[in-house]
Amino acid sequence: MMSSQHGSALPNRNAPFVLDARALNRAPGSMREEHRVVSAPSRMGLDMIAIDKGRDVTLDLRLESVSEGILVTGTVSSIASGDCVRCLEPMDLDVEVPITELFAYPHSVTSATTEEEEIYRLIDDLIDLEPVVINGLGLELPLQPLCSEDCPGLCTDCGVPIASAEPDHGHDTIDPRWSGLLDKMGSADSSKN
Ligand SMILES: [Zn+2]
Ligand SMILES: [Zn+2]
Repeated sequence: MMSSQHGSALPNRNAPFVLDARALNRAPGSMREEHRVVSAPSRMGLDMIAIDKGRDVTLDLRLESVSEGILVTGTVSSIASGDCVRCLEPMDLDVEVPITELFAYPHSVTSATTEEEEIYRLIDDLIDLEPVVINGLGLELPLQPLCSEDCPGLCTDCGVPIASAEPDHGHDTIDPRWSGLLDKMGSADSSKN
């Protein structure tokens, strides 16, 4: 799934996920690495869990000039925050989005023969990686985030998170030695009414 926005709007050269490919000079075989830490420009991810706006996002990328454009490979990583769907406690999750994406030159064969929405393009020698990161986060982040694989969830009787409750937390059924007595008290009560 790709955004269809790219191709028209000019990327902002100073935006956190915009990479300048001019230095590669359209010389196939040339490459450079891009390592930077940027600040998430907005909340990025899913409803349940996402990278919060302003959080550090680390880009470890390789830009490689190929005949049709610039091939971007590497990873984009950060920490996503959300709530565990089982115990509802806030949680953080390391997330790493693998990147392998070709940004085609505007007049390349690939660009001319591919539908607008099926490919990313270089615009003014700039690569806007943001839609790629957003799509990647949609694939990497869990739809149902869990604070741990074996999160015990909430007590079904009182609703406290089991993980943070006393070790012997429970609502045991009444001791059988007392249940007979309580039955009698219950029937005595009802006989009064
Ligand atoms: Zn949990
Ligand atoms: Zn309980």
